[in-house]
Amino acid sequence: REHNRALHEQQEKLRIKRQLTNNINHEIKTPVAAIQGYLETMINNKDMSTEERDSFIEKCYAHSQRLTQLLHDVSTITRMEDGSNRIECESVDLTTIIEEIVSDVAMLPDDKRMRINTTLPKPMPVRGNSTLLLSIFKNLTDNAIAYSGGRDIYIKAVESEDNFYTITVADNGIGIDDEHIGHIFERFYRIDAGRSRKLGGTGLGLSIVKNAVLFHGGNIEVYNRKVGGLEFKFTLPRAK
Ligand code: ADP
Repeated sequence: REHNRALHEQQEKLRIKRQLTNNINHEIKTPVAAIQGYLETMINNKDMSTEERDSFIEKCYAHSQRLTQLLHDVSTITRMEDGSNRIECESVDLTTIIEEIVSDVAMLPDDKRMRINTTLPKPMPVRGNSTLLLSIFKNLTDNAIAYSGGRDIYIKAVESEDNFYTITVADNGIGIDDEHIGHIFERFYRIDAGRSRKLGGTGLGLSIVKNAVLFHGGNIEVYNRKVGGLEFKFTLPRAK
């Protein structure tokens, strides 16, 4: 029976991997096709106006940036899945990481800025990988700024008795329709591209967040707040 279970797990892993490869191929085709289309038009129309040519070049550039982001995200996810031995862990002060993000957001132009309110223990030592830990908070705050339409982000952490921190990252924006709540951690899941203001979103951000939390031995859940907006609640292990 043990053997059967191991076999099943292995098959399941393979299935997920195959699905991911299919998704990636699909997602990469779009920007590549666009770049090719713009370049072909430019090659075949030598007498294009400079303005039009410039705008095509800019569009190519935007698509190439999207490609870069996509490849970067995918490599983060596969690195986490390929096994923890390729990811270094140390004691990281989460408060420092979060404060870095707070000052980055404060530098953003008015229309892309939200107020970040933090309630954190100081210091807040976590055993983990600083790049992955940063990507958790970066993705959550970037998303709140891109999609929530709210004014505030609240980041709060408390020590729970089992050597973990319980952390919430919430916003006071529009939240997400309940039908999507169960899916938003899925890879490439995006809600109505029309409403997303964030250009170049890959649909991988929350998948990275979830994988990073699981990688550190924590759990994550998400819900709509009664007062409006979205709340992510997760745990991360305290460093001894
Ligand atoms: P993306 O790369 O598109 O940002 P994510 O996995 O990070 O992908 O997010 C998935 C979807 O969840 C987004 O497309 C967006 O519609 C929705 N979403 C994420 N965070 C929020 C938020 N704070 N408020 C409202 N919608 C959100």
